[in-house]
Amino acid sequence: MEMTGLQIFKYLPAAKKEDHSNCKECGCPTCMAFALKLAKQNIEIEKCPYVKGELKELYSHSIKHPQKTIEIKGLRIGGENVLYRHEKTFINPTILAIVVDCNNSAYQKQLERINNFEIKGINQMYTVDLIILKNYSNQELGELKVNTITLEEYEKLEILNIKNSDFKTTKETLISTREKAILEKDDNYSSPVAVWMGTNDKFTTTAQASYYICKYANMLIFENFDEAMFSTLISLRQNIFTDPQKPLQVESKLYEFKDPKKDSIVFLTTNFALTFFAVANELENIDVPSYLIVIPADGMSVLTAWSAEKFTANIVSKTIDKLQIRENLTTRKIIIPGLLAHMTEELKEAVPDFEFIVGTHEASAIREFVKKLTATL
Ligand code: SF4
Repeated sequence: MEMTGLQIFKYLPAAKKEDHSNCKECGCPTCMAFALKLAKQNIEIEKCPYVKGELKELYSHSIKHPQKTIEIKGLRIGGENVLYRHEKTFINPTILAIVVDCNNSAYQKQLERINNFEIKGINQMYTVDLIILKNYSNQELGELKVNTITLEEYEKLEILNIKNSDFKTTKETLISTREKAILEKDDNYSSPVAVWMGTNDKFTTTAQASYYICKYANMLIFENFDEAMFSTLISLRQNIFTDPQKPLQVESKLYEFKDPKKDSIVFLTTNFALTFFAVANELENIDVPSYLIVIPADGMSVLTAWSAEKFTANIVSKTIDKLQIRENLTTRKIIIPGLLAHMTEELKEAVPDFEFIVGTHEASAIREFVKKLTATL
C-alpha cells in the first residue's frame, strides 16, 4: 500500500519535535507540506537531508510497483496495483491469445477465421489480441490485422505461465500469485501471469476463462478458436477493465437510424452509454427513420445530468448549433426524454425556433410513442 502524507509526516522532524523542524531546506514551507508532496511522488525523498533510514525503507517499499508491465507487440500486460477493481481500477485488460500450429494443414483457414473476427463495442472495434505461431518457419500468413508472435519469441518473455490442468488448482495459483505480488510485493511473483487454457470443450473453457479474467490472469492462451466464446469473454473483460470512477460514455453527435430524411423525427438524450444504447436499440428496431441528438453530459444519465447542471437548456442550444441541426435538417421538432418534461419552457426560451415534445420515461415505450406520434403528424 502507498503511504499517505500523514503516515510520512510521523517520521519527519516536525512530528518528532526534533532539530530542523520546518527548516525549509527541502524547498517546502513545512515538513507537512513535504510529506504531502512526497505521498503524491511530486518530490524526491533525498530533498530532505534529515529523513531517517526507517522512513526511506518504508517509502521505497510503498512506491514499488507490485507487478511488472510487459509489452508484447504494442500490447501491455501486467502492471496491476490492486486486488479489487473498486480500490482504484484494473489497468491492462487480460490479453486473449490463440495458438496456431503452422504444421496443421488447415492453419491458413484458421488464421483467416481469427483475422475476420471482430465485434463492435462502445466507440471501439474488438478483435483477437494476439496469435502465437507454433512451428513457424516463414510460412505464408497472408494479410493479418491481429498481432502475431512466434512461440519461440513468446517463451523469451518474462511471463509466469500456468497450465490449466484443473480449475481449482489454476484458480488458487492465480489468487495466491496476485496476493503475493500486491500484498507482499514479492519479486518472485511480480511477473504477469498467463494461463494456457488447454483443450476442454468450449462451454467449460468459457466458464473457466471468465473466472480467470476476473481473478487474476493477465493473459489467456487458447488452443481452439470460437467466435461465441471470444464475444462472451471480450464483453466480460470490457466490464472488468473499465475505470469504476468514470462512467462509460458515447460521442456527442447526431446519430442516424433507418436512413432518415431531412424531415424525419428527432430524439434527444445524454451521452451516458447505457441510456444511449437503450434508446438507440429501440430506434434501430422500429420501422420509422429517425435521428438521435446526443448531448455531452459527462456520461451521466438523464436525471443525474439535469441535477448536476450537465443537461441544461443552454447546453441543448449549444449542441444544436454545434451539430448544425438547423442547416442539416428541416425538422423543427425535438423529442426530449419524458423525465425532463419540466424543462420544456426553458428549452423553448433558449431555442425558440424548435418545438420540444415530451417523450417517454422508458426507452421500451418508444415504439408505442412513435406509433401514436406519426399518426398525428
Ligand atoms: Fe522538514 Fe523539509 Fe526541513 Fe526536512 S528539509 S526537516 S521535510 S522542512
